[in-house]
Amino acid sequence: MEDKLIYLDHHSTTPCDPRVVDAMLPYFYEDFGNAAAIVHEPGRRAAKALEEARSKVATLLRCKASEISFTAGATESNNIAIRGVASTPGHHVITTEVEHSSVLFTMEALAAQGIELTVLQPDRHGFITPGQVSAALRESTVLVSVMAANAEFGTLEPVTDIADVCRQAGVTFHTDATQAVGKIPFDLELVRCGVASMSAHKFYGPKGIGALFVREGTELSSPVTGGGQEHKMRSGTVNVAGAVGFAEALSIAMEKRDEESARLLELRDFLWDRIIDEIPGAFVNGPREARLPGNLHVSFDGVDIEALLHAMRRFALSTGSACASGKKEPSRALRAIGLDPKLALSSLRFGLGRSNDEKQLRLLVDDLKRSISRLREISV
Ligand code: PMP
Repeated sequence: MEDKLIYLDHHSTTPCDPRVVDAMLPYFYEDFGNAAAIVHEPGRRAAKALEEARSKVATLLRCKASEISFTAGATESNNIAIRGVASTPGHHVITTEVEHSSVLFTMEALAAQGIELTVLQPDRHGFITPGQVSAALRESTVLVSVMAANAEFGTLEPVTDIADVCRQAGVTFHTDATQAVGKIPFDLELVRCGVASMSAHKFYGPKGIGALFVREGTELSSPVTGGGQEHKMRSGTVNVAGAVGFAEALSIAMEKRDEESARLLELRDFLWDRIIDEIPGAFVNGPREARLPGNLHVSFDGVDIEALLHAMRRFALSTGSACASGKKEPSRALRAIGLDPKLALSSLRFGLGRSNDEKQLRLLVDDLKRSISRLREISV
């Protein structure tokens, strides 16, 4: 146990649950058919499995099966959602500075093509308010996109209220629910969004399979054209094994969700208190309340984060400020909450999940304390 790697990066991805893999396996072998080839038995069997998976997901999220389309993941879902609603120059769209790159960069690509874009600024905890959204709406607004849960510092946005503001104004509301689904309540009868995105590998399902929820009556013309699979939202031969895995993973995650989230909350608060009490110059970013249960994001003043990661190789941790382009600069979301750039680059994101327990966190805090004080000694 002492030398085993301790995985603390569950916002990045999660291991696939063995029950999920078992549920998927038949669809690689005996039931390998193309779900669109319903003229023969293998195709019909694949189509049946696909529709069963879809119904299961719809029941769990409380929507209609016809409102769920499988995609290749949340990046693709976000692209389809945004490009499918806002396509005409002169349209106005609203998003926030704390979104995932697949939302922000897509919005910016549209802005380069003549779509008007408003990017809302969060407060210092990462919150966006319904009032900010309401104040930014225009006659020409066609889409508002606000994430449900932040992947860096865990802020839970008030998406139920934002959805209501948008509904009253007759504007489509999209939420990137990738970090929320399977972890915190996300009920489509309560969150009255028009469109939502999610990805199975965030809740112990396989990578490369996601879903797009499109509420009946929402106007969305998918940019992905081809065979018209998945309600014309995502053309292409459907990943049936992936869809089966998505449904199974979601079902397992939802069954234990409240219990697991209470456990993670307790572990997270234990880690939070130990770090603040025992490591000088440590600051937590993001809110105490309305935060993903397994999330903790901490800045360590004056610490070379790469040296720290190297010293703590036994733990799989994320810097939480890594830039996709490889440049050493703080993420946009961290800058948006007003974090000092130097502190932002001295931060770690702890993403707790099913495999973590208190014993591991005690080892983590001991190692953090030891490594940080050694690094600080070297740097003076
Ligand atoms: N949105 C959020 C909030 C995410 O955390 C991620 C994954 N890091 C994505 C979208 C993209 O998901 P995927 O990589 O599965 O496409």
